[in-house]
Amino acid sequence: MSTSAGDEFAAMFAAAGLPQVQSGTAAQNTTRPARLVLRGATIIDGAGAPPWGPADLAVESGRIVELKKVGTPGLPISPARRPETGDVEIDCAGRFLTPGFIDVHAHIGAPFHAENGPMPSADYVYKLWLAHGVTTVRETGCFNGLSWTLAEAKRSDAGEIAAPRIAPYAAFPGTNDYVKTLHTAEAATAWLAQVRENGAEGVKFFGAPPAMMKAALTACRELGLRSCCHHAQLAVSRMNALTTAKWGLTSTEHSYGIPESLLDRQTVQSFPADYDYNDEYVRFAAAGQTFLQAAQPGSCKWDQVLAGFLETGHTFVPTFNVYDANRDLMRTRNADWHSRYTDPTLWSYFQPQRGGHGAYWYRWSTTNEVEWRRTFSVWMRFVNDYKNAGGRVAVGSDSGFMYQTYGFGFVRELELLQEAGFDPLEVLRAATLSGAELLGIDGETGTLEVGKRADILVHDRNPLLDFKLLYGTGAMRLDGATNDVSWPRCLALTIKEGIVYDAGVLLGDVEEMVAARRGSTQP
Ligand SMILES: [Zn+2]
Repeated sequence: MSTSAGDEFAAMFAAAGLPQVQSGTAAQNTTRPARLVLRGATIIDGAGAPPWGPADLAVESGRIVELKKVGTPGLPISPARRPETGDVEIDCAGRFLTPGFIDVHAHIGAPFHAENGPMPSADYVYKLWLAHGVTTVRETGCFNGLSWTLAEAKRSDAGEIAAPRIAPYAAFPGTNDYVKTLHTAEAATAWLAQVRENGAEGVKFFGAPPAMMKAALTACRELGLRSCCHHAQLAVSRMNALTTAKWGLTSTEHSYGIPESLLDRQTVQSFPADYDYNDEYVRFAAAGQTFLQAAQPGSCKWDQVLAGFLETGHTFVPTFNVYDANRDLMRTRNADWHSRYTDPTLWSYFQPQRGGHGAYWYRWSTTNEVEWRRTFSVWMRFVNDYKNAGGRVAVGSDSGFMYQTYGFGFVRELELLQEAGFDPLEVLRAATLSGAELLGIDGETGTLEVGKRADILVHDRNPLLDFKLLYGTGAMRLDGATNDVSWPRCLALTIKEGIVYDAGVLLGDVEEMVAARRGSTQP
């Protein structure tokens, strides 16, 4: 039987004995109130505006229908000014509303994980996302198969499963070294038309021979497909991120391809003599050196390259968090959430091992970490400069690899954007409006505005004060009254298109799942 377009990676995994992730199971509570009213909230709109309130927000059939200032801080609210009653009412006095988060680099698990035992189910992933406020994800690659991912997306839209909305981006099977069923520009164009017809919203590239890549990006534009690329090292000497941005690529994922566009003393990276791309220790150690060999911040070349990207309207999705372990392995490995929320198979997958992907800690050293810290400072400067020049940066987590657990990795990305120089309001915008713009759904979601989908987060505290409060564990605080340590969380409710999820309940479900799987899968 021939493989349906968009299912090539899944077929490759299946041939290696690695199955798809287990689909989401029917959700218990998917009621969408006919009219839902959130009262007395402080609004943080996602577009960069500062907080304002008190406001009442009404939702009907999953859409925001009213957003109204109802008083003055410090004074009682006159009932006469308030929108009419809903069938569900939520008191939001002292609480903060933001748009739902958009994770633009997400994987609903990965067949890779099956190398280390029974895979965590899609429910585990979905619940962690919702519990961390993620209401939309871009599935970058659909490694469980485009058909599988489309089916999940449909069930999510119908409210049958408790999951974020899913935007499927099919993996382009024309990589240099990996899955390669496409060899010509004509075949690439036909494949793109097919995945478009099948329902993909976009395509994920890993690089391809330049003529084919250029033709494919032209075809994407004609077909209305968006695109993203992980510029793999085996393809990047022939076309860096600036080249593909000029050809119409929508977004660059991770850092690959950026430092290559900044090289000014050489035309290819200097690789260590023992480099082999498929030896992941060497691959990831060398990846920490590219920016250090390139033009530095403030140089003429640096400014030219930034301007070049800006002109194309390109978007960067750094996924800093998934490389966070590279600069402090022990810290990341010992994060506070692993014991309760990291699935045992995922945990086993994270440990150093050959094969698989992203478990390259065979002899990870102080030198590796120091190089990666220096790399981060140049890379962060580039991303921050791009934002300051008016460029778009969006939040992607890439969780499920390198000690990053779903949901937690997304919040870590918020912290790292702040470290890069983003104001907390800019971080929030990257996580909401910018993500929506990248996916082309900013008319539908990404800000709190009348007419948009009711993708809304209800926070008990202001998340701008400390993004750590968004972690499922909460953030460590000393209670002044009792002198005890507590772990408050700010996210109380995640509302996805009008369906209300309790973050605490979702976290409890995940904890139970993890505990049960520990009991059954570990000796
Ligand atoms: Zn990824």
